[in-house]
Amino acid sequence: MEDDLLSQQRFRVFRITTVFGIAVFSTSILQTFLADFSHPILLTFSVILFVGIFINYFVLPMHKNVRTAYMILLILAFLVVHMGTYFTGGIHSSTIFYLFDLILIAFMLLGKNGGQIMAGISVVHVVYFYFAGVYTNWIDYSLLGTGAHMIELDFLITGVFSILLLTAQANYIEKSKNAIINDIKLKRDELAINNAALLNTRNDLELRNKELKQKNAELEQFAFISSHDLQEPLRTISDFVGLLQQQYVGKLDEKADKYLSFIAQSSKRMRTLIKDLLHYSQIGNEKINEPVDCAALLHEVKTNIGKIIAEKRAEIHSDPLPVITGNATGIKQLFQNLVINAIKFRKKDSIPEIKISAKKKGAYWEFSFTDNGIGIEQQHSQRIFDIFKRLHPRTEYTGSGIGLSHCKKIVELHGGKIWVKSEPEAGSTFYFTILA
Ligand code: ADP
Repeated sequence: MEDDLLSQQRFRVFRITTVFGIAVFSTSILQTFLADFSHPILLTFSVILFVGIFINYFVLPMHKNVRTAYMILLILAFLVVHMGTYFTGGIHSSTIFYLFDLILIAFMLLGKNGGQIMAGISVVHVVYFYFAGVYTNWIDYSLLGTGAHMIELDFLITGVFSILLLTAQANYIEKSKNAIINDIKLKRDELAINNAALLNTRNDLELRNKELKQKNAELEQFAFISSHDLQEPLRTISDFVGLLQQQYVGKLDEKADKYLSFIAQSSKRMRTLIKDLLHYSQIGNEKINEPVDCAALLHEVKTNIGKIIAEKRAEIHSDPLPVITGNATGIKQLFQNLVINAIKFRKKDSIPEIKISAKKKGAYWEFSFTDNGIGIEQQHSQRIFDIFKRLHPRTEYTGSGIGLSHCKKIVELHGGKIWVKSEPEAGSTFYFTILA
């Protein structure tokens, strides 16, 4: 990541430098032209450098090793400054300025080592020109019309010191840049570790989910097979008890009659339990993506259990109910179980009243079935949804204790939850949500 950012930044620096370099260079050549046409060496040299830099600029994007291209640019630029110095009367402050520029660019393009090498070459360059100016006649003072001797000791001292100062500063900046990059790298590594941990947890969860689903399916299959296979011997028992009752009631003693009646009742109850269990294990095999008009569905439920409603003179009030997406048979069973329970668990000598409503809450519809029945103690509000869980003896209220577990399974298949709020003697409200 940081390599990408850095190389983009370096390329921009390179582009800007090259464009400015060419502009400055062109001005110098023009200046030279105007000053003295008789300097063919300078002119030839300048043109070669100009072309070199220009080509490098366009070829660079194709370079595999961009550092080589940067190096070529910097060497060419240094040579321009170096050669220019002979013909412009030695070290000027402007020459020092160009060197500064080159040192900074070397730091930016090539990093710490490249920058330091450029600083070293620049010091040698300044010292060299001081001595060349003082002890030789290689420097042309007449060009550009200056004619003056520009080689002064203070140029040497300020030149060398300012180059060293600048190098120290650039070094510092480079170091802090590395610290920032290291920090970013560290943070990135931390993120990668966290990501890997998250991924592991997710994979773990997915695996567990899969295992759970498989176990659930196995359990359902088990419930289905056992309840299905239990039906057969039970039917035989019931049939023969029936036959025994038909042929022997009144012929044996009173005790025997009572025992036969117990056996008959128990096998009948067992049949109901097994039938319910079979039904429970089969929920979930139907489609759950059909439109379900809850108002029409409630109407159907009321017709189905019309006899019980009339007998108990139950009053059922309902707010407007929505059309949802789900499994109509399942939802009907859910509505019916809740309404039947509200009537069944009514208070003695009171008329059962049931209020049904639905509210949209985010992505869900929240339904509520409120009754004025006997209510449920807080401590049982979870357990009643367990299979075969009942709070009252059968002599008091009929039932097998599977109705609410049916409801729970149906609601969960529809992506929702079911719960109850209730107080003894103060009625109950059953809530459930269904994905809208
Ligand atoms: P069943 O109705 O066959 O007993 P359910 O699973 O439908 O089985 O209900 C479990 C238990 O929850 C019931 O035995 C009853 O004690 C309690 N219950 C259910 N609905 C209500 C209600 N509306 N008011 C009071 N108690 C209720």
